Amino acid sequence: MRPPSVDSLARSLSDIDLPPPLLVDAARTAISNGQPDSARDEAVRLQRALLGPAINATGVLLHTNLGRAPLAYSQPAKATNLEFDLETGTRGSRNHHAANLICRLTGAQAAVIVNNCSAAVTLVLAALARDRAVAVSRGELVEIGGGFRVPDVMAESGARLVEVGTTNRTRLDDYRTAHQVHQAALLMKVHPSNYRISGFTEETSVKSLASLGVPVVVDLGSGLIDAACSWLQEGRPSWLGEEPAVKQTLESGADLVTFSCDKLFGGPQAGVIAGRSDLVEACANHPLMRAFRPGALVLNALQQTALAYLRRDGDSIPFWRMAQTPVTELLSRADAMSIGRTVHTMAMTGGGSLPGEQIPSAGVEIDGDISRRLRDANTPVIARVHDQTTVIDLRTVDPGDDSLVVAAVASSI
Ligand SMILES: *Cc1c(COP(=O)(O)O)cnc(C)c1O
Repeated sequence: MRPPSVDSLARSLSDIDLPPPLLVDAARTAISNGQPDSARDEAVRLQRALLGPAINATGVLLHTNLGRAPLAYSQPAKATNLEFDLETGTRGSRNHHAANLICRLTGAQAAVIVNNCSAAVTLVLAALARDRAVAVSRGELVEIGGGFRVPDVMAESGARLVEVGTTNRTRLDDYRTAHQVHQAALLMKVHPSNYRISGFTEETSVKSLASLGVPVVVDLGSGLIDAACSWLQEGRPSWLGEEPAVKQTLESGADLVTFSCDKLFGGPQAGVIAGRSDLVEACANHPLMRAFRPGALVLNALQQTALAYLRRDGDSIPFWRMAQTPVTELLSRADAMSIGRTVHTMAMTGGGSLPGEQIPSAGVEIDGDISRRLRDANTPVIARVHDQTTVIDLRTVDPGDDSLVVAAVASSI
């Protein structure tokens, strides 16, 4: 029998929600593999390779592979005052909307928003320390994840790394000596977001570093905005441990801080440089800023998140709502789902934040490894597997998605 034509095979897939050229690709691949019958599977494979929603049942709240903090993003197809000053009718700055709200929240004199925290660190170094020395403790020369290594970023930015102290102990005198020898442009502290050094350790506080008269930059990474957590009715949760916050780090003398917006801030992927206005301005005026600037979609989502903080409405920030859901509520959701054994679990923030801190949680345990079948569901469900047991942690699942989880489990049995 002659194989079907690519066109007729592609037309037979028209019920699949993909544009015709991609259906043609699927048909062509199937025919060239000598398996025209696999065209439908090929088309479904193409469809599932597109960016789309997934249900995070891993118990890792800020799962980098699952997009970190969940957040709704949308904007109407309308012009905005992105770079237009409505007061004067002349050109404005995209750094005066969300950035001003970040200042209001943190007490920073000024702030600038870039695409992520890696860009924030790169921009700070390029703008303030090109061809000059930056002192960093040997205990903080780390890889944050995904290949973001502090020494590499420093090299790319054109700043010269001066290693200070030892892996476990770095004292003020070590920084002072480094500055005297190398005339440091910056003293930089990198928050150990994804590791912990314990035992015989000593680090130098921001407050004492600030006494050396060199600008102090703190890469906080996680972006906890204020130690008091006034946006939570219950106040600061114990699982935050010793996590430092942006506002207090600036108060203790940091000249600049950098942080991610899609970690503990619970906003869109973006990065912030906040602090002294002359330093922020030097960053904002650097040519790299053009390459690092986010678009209106992100700035709008960031503005919405900042406004929620100012309203003290943590419940409207999905990350905080999920993190603070009482375990009793998770247990009753698990019971109501009736798809397996209701169990207590431990969730965590993840995404390179709060290493070692766990959040009591609950979910459902199902015998066997059904993770593949759960991923195959219409809305994929991503679960954890331990020793041939699948665990669906409900702390990271939106309650509105419980029925989709139930359907995914039912279809996998
Ligand atoms: C996460 C993190 C970064 C990288 O942030 P991205 O927004 O992912 O680029 C940099 N520094 C620290 C300390 C971090 O925790």
